[in-house]
Amino acid sequence: MGEVETFDIVLANGTVIDPASSRKGRFDIGVRDGVIAAISDSLASSACKRRIDVSGQYVIPGMIDTHAHVYQYVTGKFGLSPDMVGVASGVTTLIDQGGPSCMTIGGFRNFIVEPSISRVLAFISTYLVGGLEGHLYPDLYGPNGVNAEHTISSARENLDIVKGIKAHAEIGGQSRWGMEVVKIGQEIATAVDLPLYIHLGQLWPTADSAEIPSADELIHTLLPIMKPGDILAHPFTRHPGGFVSETGEVHPILLEAVHQKGLRIDVGHGSHFSFETARRVLGAGIMPFTLGADMHGYNVSIPDASDGSERAANPFFGVAPFNLTIAMSELLHLGIPLEDIVAMVTTNPAKMLRMEDELGALVIGREADISVLNIETGRFKLSDNSGEQVVADKLVRPAFCLRAGHYYDADSAFVPDAIVA
Ligand SMILES: [Zn+2]
Repeated sequence: MGEVETFDIVLANGTVIDPASSRKGRFDIGVRDGVIAAISDSLASSACKRRIDVSGQYVIPGMIDTHAHVYQYVTGKFGLSPDMVGVASGVTTLIDQGGPSCMTIGGFRNFIVEPSISRVLAFISTYLVGGLEGHLYPDLYGPNGVNAEHTISSARENLDIVKGIKAHAEIGGQSRWGMEVVKIGQEIATAVDLPLYIHLGQLWPTADSAEIPSADELIHTLLPIMKPGDILAHPFTRHPGGFVSETGEVHPILLEAVHQKGLRIDVGHGSHFSFETARRVLGAGIMPFTLGADMHGYNVSIPDASDGSERAANPFFGVAPFNLTIAMSELLHLGIPLEDIVAMVTTNPAKMLRMEDELGALVIGREADISVLNIETGRFKLSDNSGEQVVADKLVRPAFCLRAGHYYDADSAFVPDAIVA
C-alpha cells in the first residue's frame, strides 16, 4: 500500500443503511469519476477534492420514487418538474406512472428523460392519452381509447425507459366499462413481460346507470387478472374501492392474493393516504413493498418562479403538505422499522424495475446515486388528507443527494417545511 487514494467526494462519518447488503453503521464512502469507489470504516487519511462531513446523518442508496407525475407541460397542470421532485428533493430516480403513452413516449424521452438530471423511467399508460390533464376526462379512458398492439410495440421499442404498464381499477371506470381496460393492460404487460401497476380507489364519478358495482365486487373481479409481481397501488386510500371493504375489513381475498400470489403493494401516497386505513391494512398483516410519493400538480402547491406567486393545490384532492420523506416519516410513526422503510425506497423499487443489478444498493463500481437524510427528533405535526393529525417524534428530511457522483442540495420548494407541534 503506502499510496494514498484520491477521491472526488468523500461522505465521511455518516450512518449508512443499505438494506440490499444488510450494511448498517458508520462508514465512509468514496466517490470517483461518478462511481462508488470505496466503502470503508475510515477514509480519513485519503486525499479527496471534497470531504463532506455527514456525521449525524443517514446515508442510503439513491432514493427511487415509484410513483411520480413529471411529464411536465404535456400533461397540463398535472405534471411537475422532474428535478424538483427528483434530485432537488433528495431523490435520484423517478418512475412516472402512466404519464406517457404509446403516442407520447417519444416526447417523454426527448423532453423529460434526456434533459433531466434525475434518472427518469416510466410505467407506460395503457390508454392512448396517457395522463393528459391528470385523467380529468373519464370518457377518454374506456376500451375505445386503448390500442394494445400499438402500446406493445412502443413499449418494446423503449425498454430502456419503460419498466411497466399502468392502468386503473376503480369503480367509476368499472361502472362504465367493467374490467375490460385492465384485461387489455394485462395483455400488454404479458406480451412485453413487464409488471402491471394498478391504481385502486375511486377517481372518476360512477356512470348514471342503474347497476353500480360494489367495491367488493371490483376487488373480486380484479384479482384473478393480476399476476405475480404485479403491483396494487394506494392500499391506504380512504376512497371507495380500496383494500378495506364496505364493512371496514381488509378483503380476505386481498390478503390471500398478497401473501400467496406474490402481488406487490405500492403506497402511492398522493391523495390516497389515511392513517386510519393504514392502521387497518398494516394491522391485517399487509406490508407495502414500495413507497411512491404520487405528487402531482393537483395535490401539491406549485411555486411560480416568474412572479414569486404560488398556485395552490386543488382542494378536491384533500391536500396536506407531503413528499416522499414525509411519507417515510408517516410510516415511521405507524411503527414500521426505519430499515424496512429505507428498503421501500431503495432495494425494493430496484427489484420492481428489475434493475437490482444497477440501482437501489451501495456497491463499489456502481454509479454513485446516494441520498443523505436528516432524521430530526422533536414533536412534528403530520396530517393526512382526511384531516386526521398526528404528532410524530421523528421527521425524515432530505439533506442532499449525489446523482452519478454529482452533488445536489435538497432545496426544492416541494420539500415541505417541518410543522412543529
Ligand atoms: Zn398517481
